[in-house]
Amino acid sequence: MQVSPVARVGASRSPTAARPPSPGAPGPARSSAPGLPPTGPRCFGYTADGAELVEGEAAEVKDCFHALLAGATLSGMAADLNGRGILDRNGKPWSHNTIRGVLLNERYAGLRQYRGELHPGKWPVIVDEATWRATSRGPGRRWLLSGIARCGVCDDGTTVTSGSRGGPKGTRGLTTPLYRCRKTKHLARGTEPIDFTVEEYVIRRLSRPDAVDLLVDETAPRTEELRAKAVALRSRIRSLTDEFADDDDADAAEFKAATRRIKARLANVEAQMAHLQRARILVDIVTAEDPAKAWKDLTLDRQCAVVETLATVTLLPGRPGRAPFDPRSVRIEPLQGMG
Ligand SMILES: [Zn+2]
Repeated sequence: MQVSPVARVGASRSPTAARPPSPGAPGPARSSAPGLPPTGPRCFGYTADGAELVEGEAAEVKDCFHALLAGATLSGMAADLNGRGILDRNGKPWSHNTIRGVLLNERYAGLRQYRGELHPGKWPVIVDEATWRATSRGPGRRWLLSGIARCGVCDDGTTVTSGSRGGPKGTRGLTTPLYRCRKTKHLARGTEPIDFTVEEYVIRRLSRPDAVDLLVDETAPRTEELRAKAVALRSRIRSLTDEFADDDDADAAEFKAATRRIKARLANVEAQMAHLQRARILVDIVTAEDPAKAWKDLTLDRQCAVVETLATVTLLPGRPGRAPFDPRSVRIEPLQGMG
C-alpha cells in the first residue's frame, strides 16, 4: 500500500523525517479529547454534560429520524412536537430549522467531527450510524456544490445555491432539491445526478496510479531531484518485497528493518516535496486502498474542499421537461496542475 507523505510524517517514528508545519490545520481543541462528548450548549436528548440520555427526549429524537425516512417533512415534525407540548432544548417551540439541526447532528449517532472527519465517541447513541447517514442526506442536507459550482448562464463566476421545488400533489410535501443561480431564476437543476457526476469524477481522478503526484508542490525547489529520489526509493521497496516473497530462507526481521529504513527516507523526501494545503485535503483519499469508500467517509465540508481543490464545476441549463439527465450539462474543468 502506498503510504502518504503527510500521514507518514505525522506518524513517523523516524527522527530524520521532516516535520513541516501544517498551516491552516486546526490544532486540537481542548474540548475534543478522544471520545468525550463535545462541550457547548446542551443537546436535546442528552444531559447537560452530554454523557447520558434524557429518555423521553431521546425517544422523540429517534422518532424524528424514523419519521424523516418514512417521508415526513421537517415542518410536519415540528408541528407534531409542538402540538404535543414538547419544547426544544431552549424551552421554545420547534421550527423547521431546529428539527433540521437535530437531524443533521452526528452526535446522535455517537460520532463527532474532528478535522473534517468523523470519529466515534463514547456516549450512548440514539440512532445507529446508518440511519443518521441516510437521513442526513435527506431534505435537510446541504449539498455538495452549493457555493462551489458556477452558474453557466451568468458565466461570470456567480455560484449556485441550493433550494427545492415542491413535489407533485399527493407526495405529502416531499420536495426535489435543486441548485439555483444565486442571482436570478434562469437556472434550476436537480442536485442528485449532478452531485453523482462530480463525485464520480473526483473518485476516478483520485484513484489514478499517478494521483499521489497531486500532492507534490511543483514550485518547490529541487522538485525534479527529489522526485527522482522518491521513484528510486519506491522501486527499492518494491524489489526488496519481491525478493522477500521469492526467497524461502529470507530473514523476516532483516527485511522489515531494511524496508523501514527506506520508508523513513522516502517519507523525508516526500515531505520536502509536499504541497501542504493540497496534501492535507487530498491525502486521505489518494492513499486509501479504496478511494471511493474514503470519499464517502469524509464529512460534507471536507468533500467540498476536495472538489474545490481539483476542479471548477459549471452547471449549464438542463433540457426542458422530463428529458433524462445529460452529464454534458455539468462542465468539470481541472484546475491548473490537477488534470
Ligand atoms: Zn446565473
